[in-house]
Amino acid sequence: MMLRGLVVAFVVASSIPAQGQTYDLLLKGGHVIDPMNDVDGLRDVAIRGGRIAAVETDIATGEAERVIDVSGLYVTPGLVDIHTHLYVVSGPGTVYGGSTSVDPDTTCPRACVTTGVDVGTVGWRAFPDFRRRIIDASKKTRVLAMLNIVGMGMVNYDVEQNPADMEPDRTAEMAKAHADVVVGIKSAHWRQPNFIAVERAVEAGELADIPVMVDFGFFLVERPYRTMVLDKLRPGDISTHFFRWPAPLMDENEKKLQYLDLARERGVKFDVGHGAGSFHFRQAEPLVKQGFWPDSISTDLHINSHNGAMIDMVTVMSKFLAMGVPLAEVIRQSTTNPATQIKRSRLGQIAVGSEADIAVLRVNRGTFGYVDVGGGRITGDQRIGCEMTLREGNIVFDFNGRAGTAWREAEIDYPTQ
Ligand SMILES: [Zn+2]
Repeated sequence: MMLRGLVVAFVVASSIPAQGQTYDLLLKGGHVIDPMNDVDGLRDVAIRGGRIAAVETDIATGEAERVIDVSGLYVTPGLVDIHTHLYVVSGPGTVYGGSTSVDPDTTCPRACVTTGVDVGTVGWRAFPDFRRRIIDASKKTRVLAMLNIVGMGMVNYDVEQNPADMEPDRTAEMAKAHADVVVGIKSAHWRQPNFIAVERAVEAGELADIPVMVDFGFFLVERPYRTMVLDKLRPGDISTHFFRWPAPLMDENEKKLQYLDLARERGVKFDVGHGAGSFHFRQAEPLVKQGFWPDSISTDLHINSHNGAMIDMVTVMSKFLAMGVPLAEVIRQSTTNPATQIKRSRLGQIAVGSEADIAVLRVNRGTFGYVDVGGGRITGDQRIGCEMTLREGNIVFDFNGRAGTAWREAEIDYPTQ
């Protein structure tokens, strides 16, 4: 009886188009790359009520209230950046860190990032404030978080060296109370000759059943990186800043060390986390050429990286394109893979029924330069640009004004003051 009622309701609803049309918005003529659903070709994408309503080879323009021509462009899931810092309570003397954070709605849409994951800027102590001030207030960006295992979060290096403030129970408790937006635990900047910070983070990750991301920081003989990825991290845990120098990744002949394959076979994930000090072509290019690609591309977005070598998500993606990673794989590493790593796979695909978080990307051709955090440079003949960003079906960034109307025909209420 219940089922029959649902079927009737569905038929009635779908036979009454909203305002005369079936769809609110139609992205027409684009090349869809949706790695999770094995789509790589020309498709039209229709949106209704903030969700993907149809993905087909040809959807009639008359069926949509608004049509945007995206021919010559790539339509992909909204980019998922799993290494950002977004707790803007800036200024010297900030109690709970965040002084190097950037505002998500100011920075993410223009790089086609629809989901930004703050990783460890705050611990459990400041999380309720972060949630109220940033996560719930951001309108154009979906903000998620990994809690720092240090209760005080990233206040400064000294505060981050205090094991007494690393409480797996309290951290996991906060993560579980906000399971809708907390997707992991972060350990960062630990400088001591042991694995205490990593072990506490993993303990919290176990308790809350979420992955751990580790910024291993400095490389000490007493706590080898290989021990972390082979013994300390669990399958699904993430090592960020993977291409940071001098991580021990290759031998003297630039040959990849075998333990990396073993770690990957165990299920450990390797994330870029470019930042202002953690991405070097001398690590990245030889490994990429040997086929060891990152699982996820991310920015480590903060005030010191986004006007430096990193710039933004599409620039970091372009660096991997320039090193020879195929475009479809670069998209996978920036959408499907990171979304899956944080157990939010719906955000990394263009599937009917999913939230319409979409990136429209262009690939420019020419000669482009890219630098790493040490000033090391490569050139490439392609550069990815963000053309348009949609968040739950709303256009939140539109580089070439594709949603606009020729101004003589536009019926616009211009502001009078
Ligand atoms: Zn970071």
